[in-house]
Amino acid sequence: MNYDVIIIGAGPGGIFAAYELMQHKPHMKVAVFESGHALSKRHCPIDGVKVKTCIGCKSCSIMSGFGGAGAFSDGKYNITNDFGGVLYEYVGKKEALDLMHYVDEINLKFGGEGTKLYTTSGSRFKTLCIQNDLHLLDASVRHLGTDINYVVLENIYEYLKDKVEFFFDTPVRNIKIIPGGYSVVCDETAYTCKNCIVSVGRSGSKWMEKVCRDLDIPTRSNRVDIGVRVELPASVFAHLTDELYESKIVYRTKQYGDKVRTFCMNPKGAVVNENTNGIITVNGHSYEDPAKQTENTNFALLVSKEFSEPFRDSNGYGESIARLSNMLGGGVIVQRFGDLIRGRRSTPGRMTDAFITPTLNATPGDLSLVLPKRILDGVIEMIYALDKVAPGTANDDTLLYGVEVKFYNMEVKVDSRLETCFPGLYIIGDGSGITHSLSHASASGVHVARNITE
Ligand SMILES: Cc1cc2nc3c(=O)[nH]c(=O)nc-3n(C[C@H](O)[C@H](O)[C@H](O)COP(=O)(O)OP(=O)(O)OC[C@H]3O[C@@H](n4cnc5c(N)ncnc54)[C@H](O)[C@@H]3O)c2cc1C
Repeated sequence: MNYDVIIIGAGPGGIFAAYELMQHKPHMKVAVFESGHALSKRHCPIDGVKVKTCIGCKSCSIMSGFGGAGAFSDGKYNITNDFGGVLYEYVGKKEALDLMHYVDEINLKFGGEGTKLYTTSGSRFKTLCIQNDLHLLDASVRHLGTDINYVVLENIYEYLKDKVEFFFDTPVRNIKIIPGGYSVVCDETAYTCKNCIVSVGRSGSKWMEKVCRDLDIPTRSNRVDIGVRVELPASVFAHLTDELYESKIVYRTKQYGDKVRTFCMNPKGAVVNENTNGIITVNGHSYEDPAKQTENTNFALLVSKEFSEPFRDSNGYGESIARLSNMLGGGVIVQRFGDLIRGRRSTPGRMTDAFITPTLNATPGDLSLVLPKRILDGVIEMIYALDKVAPGTANDDTLLYGVEVKFYNMEVKVDSRLETCFPGLYIIGDGSGITHSLSHASASGVHVARNITE
């Protein structure tokens, strides 16, 4: 065998698996194959001047490369079983939290020291929310910020680079079962290993589906979350974000009984494009460094959709809606809440008149031509509900960017060790459909590494 362990994907799942293997068995031969670039070579060409929108690079530097989809994220590290994945269903609630705390300590050791840990526990906003039929979920969140998150990744790479063999710009094309292990097939060469950890995240979802089909590993369809990213003056949410940083608030709509939730809150942050398999959607992040902060706060409002019979392709549904927005807007569409409510599109003129400066250069348009009525109605109802705890949310100039879609990989059948029906073949992180966050994905990497070294 070439290696004891091959890890496919250098996102948080793969990185923390490699780190933990080295803690327990420093002499193990470990290789990491990553389709994207090394961290220092990851650059998104959008500069707002020459390149204004996504040009569809062969390897998207936002989603791929050392650090995975999380490298330029806001680095919000949520320690909770209430959202971010269902790792606890596999490893137990206490173990899941212990693993997340363990990773948090490593992040602090590698450059995150001094960053703030916020908590909802004992917060007066819980009462304020419930009084307005809104529900604040429990969590502790460490805000590393895009800048510190990057430093932590740089330091972890420095620590790992002489212990583990990294292959960047090397997508894995296939995994074959061979006697005593696996053959990991890349474009030029195939490498063999006893154990293989697959941690390919959301960008590897299509490939993951193919691997599961080829190897007959059972999967089941997951949900898709669809909605918009809201951007408003930071002062509107300042009372919440100063105390909690991120508040995950859930609301059940009166009209349909659907749940709408806030997601990925970025105080004084920026809205950004996200490219998933060539489809441009929207996301957000913010910096810890006050010099890089903006005057706006952004967050997503999402509605979950799951399908059963005869249609099971939740991601396909989300993709079609995102494609429609790309078709109409050439990318992401932005609309003022006031224009949406009055049933008219936002125009460049109306955008210039607004009392808010958008942080993303998106096409002014009409989201009601893109989002299904049920989802749009839910978003509008939630904005009015939030206006009661954060007055100003329903102002005319509140910006809605669309569409925001959270694709979840299909859930792969693995056991409590995150091992498939093939001994030594593990599927972890967002690629497994079990996790959807930095904390859960990283924790799944540690869990698998401990299982292998035991
Ligand atoms: C803009 C943005 C902001 C975010 N902000 C936050 C946040 O603040 N907090 C939070 O908890 N989560 C956030 N997330 C989500 C978070 O980044 C992911 O949940 C997390 O990165 C998942 O880790 P992972 O290791 O499972 O997968 P990923 O991070 O997606 O890493 C998978 C890696 O595998 C590689 N890969 C894929 N296929 C192959 C292949 N065939 N061969 C080799 N390599 C392959 C990819 O290039 C990628 O680098 C954000 C995501 C984005 C895009």
